[in-house]
Amino acid sequence: MNIEELMLGSSKALKKAALNEAAKSYILENKALFQLLKKAANRYVAGEHLEDINVKVKSINSRNVPCTVDFMGESTRTEKEANAVTKEFLRLARLIKKAKLDSTISLDLSHIGLAVDKQLGLENLLKICKEDIEVIISAEGTDRTDRVLETYLEASKYYNNVGITLQAYLHRSENDLQELIKCEGKIRIVKGAFDTPHGTSLARGEELDNRYLNFVRMLLEARHKCSVATHDPKIQNGVIRLLEDIETPSNYEFESLLGIENERIYDLNRHHPTKIYVVYGVEWYLYLCNRIAEYPPGIFQSIIDVMNDT
Ligand SMILES: Cc1cc2nc3c(=O)[nH]c(=O)nc-3n(C[C@H](O)[C@H](O)[C@H](O)COP(=O)(O)OP(=O)(O)OC[C@H]3O[C@@H](n4cnc5c(N)ncnc54)[C@H](O)[C@@H]3O)c2cc1C
Repeated sequence: MNIEELMLGSSKALKKAALNEAAKSYILENKALFQLLKKAANRYVAGEHLEDINVKVKSINSRNVPCTVDFMGESTRTEKEANAVTKEFLRLARLIKKAKLDSTISLDLSHIGLAVDKQLGLENLLKICKEDIEVIISAEGTDRTDRVLETYLEASKYYNNVGITLQAYLHRSENDLQELIKCEGKIRIVKGAFDTPHGTSLARGEELDNRYLNFVRMLLEARHKCSVATHDPKIQNGVIRLLEDIETPSNYEFESLLGIENERIYDLNRHHPTKIYVVYGVEWYLYLCNRIAEYPPGIFQSIIDVMNDT
């Protein structure tokens, strides 16, 4: 096996491990393993509680970089749970205002009820939008794309502080963008993180990079609010080149996830608007597995994080 095959194999294994409930409970119930993995997760996660957000966001803001905060989770199965999660997002919104944090909110609609019932997802989203802080909806698996986009379009009729994430790898996104651009809300472009049904998406590579840049170009030319959400320096540099050709570009930002190439974001922040996506909550195990699965060399960083101060 060469190194690339090893990386791919370990990425697939981690994705499986993330979803394996028995492995998860074994690890989380084993004190020593729990402590080690928690240390690896600390790079990517602000903490388990809302209070941790206050500290982390303030520290990032002190470097003049705004944040967006997500209370991690998805696929809530009952109305009661979805309403409890919505209450947590409302607490988050109030903390942002009270502590004067420079932060917006990001969320998965299935976390606040979309997977239980579409109307519940919409109603809970509207409650959060009412707090008058920008709320960006994440993109989920393809089985949910229609419901997520429809909910966004509906919410946009009532609020202009709601935005949406678009996955450049999906073939359908070219058409979806034509609809989404008619609403005022920010459009966050990502490459896409989920496994997709055969024939519905592009793999990582030049064609996807070109499509990504093309979406950003369309948004910049339309002076539509947009976020370039990627850790890929090729895309970031491509967008910087696009910006040079656009007269007084506005309404764009570069966004990265907490713990991933953040020095690059601080560097970009000297000349461009940037943002760091900060997550908190108890679902850090799944989140950690997904981050490493997405970029297997990250396992080496995790080993360093675990070994530091042990
Ligand atoms: C703010 C934000 C919000 C997101 N929201 C969603 C969402 O709602 N739905 C969704 O499907 N996906 C979302 N994603 C994830 C996204 O779809 C990609 O899966 C993820 O960003 C990895 O793709 P990439 O473009 O960053 O780089 P890749 O195409 O994975 O990698 C390209 C290059 O980027 C660099 N790179 C990538 N990852 C790392 C790393 N961990 N450490 C160091 N360098 C790295 C490397 O140089 C690598 O060669 C989000 C991402 C961000 C940043």
